[in-house]
Amino acid sequence: MSERAEVVIIGGGVTGASTAYHLAQRGVRDVVLVEKEFLASGPTGRSSACVRQHYTTPETCRMVLKALRFFERFEDLTKGRTAGFVRTGYLLGVDDRLRKPMEASVALQQSVGIDTRLVTPTEMRDIEPRLRIDDLTAGCYEPESGHADPAQTTAGLAAAARDMGVRVMEQTVVTGMRTEGDRIAAVETSKGVIAARKVVNAAGTWAAGVGTMVGLDIPITVCRHKIALVAWPEDARRPHPMVYDFVNNIYTRPETGDMILVGPLDSEELDDRADPDAYREGLNLDESTDLLARGAARFPVLERGWVAKHYAGCFDVAPDWHPVIDEVGPEGSYVAAGFSGHGFKLSPAVGDMVAKLVTEGKKPGDDVNAFRLSRFAEGKPIRGTYGDWLMC
Ligand SMILES: Cc1cc2nc3c(=O)[nH]c(=O)nc-3n(C[C@H](O)[C@H](O)[C@H](O)COP(=O)(O)OP(=O)(O)OC[C@H]3O[C@@H](n4cnc5c(N)ncnc54)[C@H](O)[C@@H]3O)c2cc1C
Repeated sequence: MSERAEVVIIGGGVTGASTAYHLAQRGVRDVVLVEKEFLASGPTGRSSACVRQHYTTPETCRMVLKALRFFERFEDLTKGRTAGFVRTGYLLGVDDRLRKPMEASVALQQSVGIDTRLVTPTEMRDIEPRLRIDDLTAGCYEPESGHADPAQTTAGLAAAARDMGVRVMEQTVVTGMRTEGDRIAAVETSKGVIAARKVVNAAGTWAAGVGTMVGLDIPITVCRHKIALVAWPEDARRPHPMVYDFVNNIYTRPETGDMILVGPLDSEELDDRADPDAYREGLNLDESTDLLARGAARFPVLERGWVAKHYAGCFDVAPDWHPVIDEVGPEGSYVAAGFSGHGFKLSPAVGDMVAKLVTEGKKPGDDVNAFRLSRFAEGKPIRGTYGDWLMC
């Protein structure tokens, strides 16, 4: 088989699917999305898919607000597909250690139009009565936030892109790239060569390897991210907001089946390096017990709860826990990877940002400049309002 396309996107996770959709929306329809297994088969399919707004740089705040608005209108924008977005609200609790940066973050978020406000611990408990609050000194509340379904989101974006002319090739592995002079000429796959002058590397936890195909060194570390689904005791089963806890370093969200999803917010997870093709996908007893204990530290009633399911996915972590979104390498080579645990909620904005980059290039002042690969070599990593607290 020998094909030709204007743009090839490598990776059928939510980043690749969103990029395909947004390219097509901008009128670029001669696009092939190449996925080595099936859509959302990588970390996207395991994502907790929380769409919180608590971000700490002007660029990411603008992006996550734009993304939320997309999730809210997903059905309209994709001709009837669903992202499974459920608005639950979001609560964040801190102690004195992070009170000032949390307040600065909320002020920044408000300045770009995010609906968030400071709340006292007592007000937090009014919103979610099962919370323990005696170790909290401050918090914030986002009424509009919620969570979605990552597989449905990806499938919906890809299907809508296909309606507009994008070709989706699953079970097709990209094995190499060809250049002519200093520009991209073609993509080699397990099903043949696709001639193309523009290629987007949206290969997530595999993006560093794909980068080497064009001589790029993309500094991505792959690590395990652990999730426990904890069953509520029968008398405590009720809907609840997503609760992020910067004291015990966990995030939570409602999970179907009367469960609460508990995940860690530990930058130490980076030490748990993983091969995305062969890693420990379950949790051992210490790991699941730890998440249960931390969940019960915030929701004491969970002392009577139990871990009903557990699994791990992989994060693609860049050195400053922010993505690389750039045109870099040979002409026509684009990268959108290194999402460091943020890539689901940002994906609608990222897809549009990449599509703009591919069609219009970069202009000074564009938000995309913040995510240039060269920031690491320049010694200018992204630092938000929490400084070295890297999880948002
Ligand atoms: C357990 C877990 C929980 C998370 N929770 C959240 C959350 O609550 N909110 C949030 O915003 N983010 C969250 N994230 C992060 C978010 O899910 C990811 O950042 C996002 O899904 C990354 O999407 P992606 O498309 O960039 O990459 P991926 O999902 O990694 O997709 C890349 C795709 O590329 C394909 N591929 C790779 N190499 C090749 C090749 N050579 N040829 C063809 N195809 C190839 C892979 O098969 C894969 O499908 C979580 C992640 C995990 C693992």
